[in-house]
Amino acid sequence: MSTTRKDFIRLAGMGFAGIVLPKKDLSVSVTAGQGIEGAGKKLSTYRIILNGNASESEKWAAAELQHWLFEISREYIPVYNQDASYQGSKIVLGYNEDIKNRTGLPEPAFDDESYHYFTADGNVYIYGGRQRGTMYGVFSFLENEFGCRWYTPQVSLIPEKPVLLFNQCDHKEKPGVQVRNNFYFEAFDATWAARNKMNGRMFLWNPKYKPNDGIFYKEQPGGEETYWSVHTFFPLMPPEEFYDRHPEYYSLINGKRIYERAQLCLSNKDVLKIITQRIKENIRKYPKFLIYDVSQNDWRNPCQCDKCQAIVKREGGQESGIMIWFVNQVAEAIEKEFPDKYIGTLAYQYTRTPPKNIRPRHNVVVRLCPIEACVAHPLNKCPENKSFMDDLETWASISPHLYIWDYVVNFARYIMPYPNFYVLQSNIKTFRDNKAIGIMEQANHQSRGGEFEELKCYVLAKLLWNPECDMEEAVNDFIYSYYGRAGRYIREYFDLVHSLVKPDTHMHIRFDATDKMFTDDFVNRSLAVFENARRVADNKEVLARVELTWASILYLKCRRQPVLSRNDGTYRKLISIVEKEGVTHFAEYRETKESFMQFIESAN
Ligand SMILES: [Zn+2]
Ligand SMILES: [Zn+2]
Repeated sequence: MSTTRKDFIRLAGMGFAGIVLPKKDLSVSVTAGQGIEGAGKKLSTYRIILNGNASESEKWAAAELQHWLFEISREYIPVYNQDASYQGSKIVLGYNEDIKNRTGLPEPAFDDESYHYFTADGNVYIYGGRQRGTMYGVFSFLENEFGCRWYTPQVSLIPEKPVLLFNQCDHKEKPGVQVRNNFYFEAFDATWAARNKMNGRMFLWNPKYKPNDGIFYKEQPGGEETYWSVHTFFPLMPPEEFYDRHPEYYSLINGKRIYERAQLCLSNKDVLKIITQRIKENIRKYPKFLIYDVSQNDWRNPCQCDKCQAIVKREGGQESGIMIWFVNQVAEAIEKEFPDKYIGTLAYQYTRTPPKNIRPRHNVVVRLCPIEACVAHPLNKCPENKSFMDDLETWASISPHLYIWDYVVNFARYIMPYPNFYVLQSNIKTFRDNKAIGIMEQANHQSRGGEFEELKCYVLAKLLWNPECDMEEAVNDFIYSYYGRAGRYIREYFDLVHSLVKPDTHMHIRFDATDKMFTDDFVNRSLAVFENARRVADNKEVLARVELTWASILYLKCRRQPVLSRNDGTYRKLISIVEKEGVTHFAEYRETKESFMQFIESAN
């Protein structure tokens, strides 16, 4: 059980009390099976020590640490609450007097997500802010020192070791992006999100919800940085409630007040009064959110009335001018009662370009959306993205902070190949460098099964936490582990699909299988790679992962050659995979499994 390496020492556990630890040693091991054995379970001589004031997430992290260390070594480490005076070897979770004396550092703020873990005198210390910092420290400790990974809600990698052996360490990290909202289906799993340090959440509000309906999802142990809704003009002021009596509340379009696919008349004083009052009501009803949305409906048609257009004109002809003018007033009106809340709005489509004069208030968050961007190339490298970059930089220069609503999948064809991995890191850095306090990565959120979903979801989590991380390493880590022996072929396919991106291949949020980027040669070569991958898959579970990834190419072939795919088994295979894996949504809107099937079955 022991190690012969001279640079390892053993923590002074029960069987080793009194051993003098050489000063130069580089690593330590947590009790090497010297505890009490029984029923396949060894009682460790270590104790996990929690503070008396441990937060909910620190308590949960203690249970997680205990669980995963047991999975690694079959050693059981009891958790002691409120017993910092314990004299044996310990793993201390959360800032306490001992840590204060050893580091000389003050207690981190409650919401400080940075963390520090280190070894000293045979003990392990893990601490950060109590809300989530300590918890993140525990997961990083398990990841870095033991090689644990939580790839998806269902698939984790927990390397077994006969001895809990790891290097002596002194490690600190802090988040690269304050609010990290990964909008992949699997990232909605609160436990997975906490383990992978995703702290953002958006809640889509509907006026029919009652406060007691709660928050409609399982919250993470350390809570979340939450954004209350989007496109709220009509949910806040439904035309069915107001239009008949007050058509003047809605957009004037070509001389007529309309509500179908319209917005609000923002210069109307009653509109401001009603929106302000309803936002206040909602903050009181749903007080746990950080940012409350007041923003345009998801279409165009801003009001053309003279009063609205005078404000737009004053702002250099920008519709964002009247939007900020309006939202600033709502933000000012709620500030006294809710000093720690923000009002969020969109800089999206017709409001994307910043206003000329007005500035967002300090409690306004502008959520900027690069929906028109080319995602074959980084935002700051493609000529097609120049106007977005100009808008981003101007917004960053005039706003106290920005929030980015980014897009990482093909909205029209979730399953189809979408080689955008090599822009993700660069774009996240660009957002971070331009005052983004939050980034939401919108992906397939209605069901699983989007192109490379599990991989991209995992890699995005790594990038959002640390935009400087080694992305290639994260990609390879995932691929060679998650896909087992088939990993080398999945990597081959990953490189093949990314080789489709050339300097003149521009790629947007929606495109079809007929795009010039794809060729029959690409489809055939990819299919051959997947034949190899399937052939070597380690077992049924790995085969299922390979096949869900393969679905991407099957789908592309079905869309390109529906009749052939119907006749040669491609279509049947695809449907059997998506049915087995529960893939129901093939696009952001419109295409479902059923409508796709109808398309293929009626093709001739
Ligand atoms: Zn108007
Ligand atoms: Zn481009």
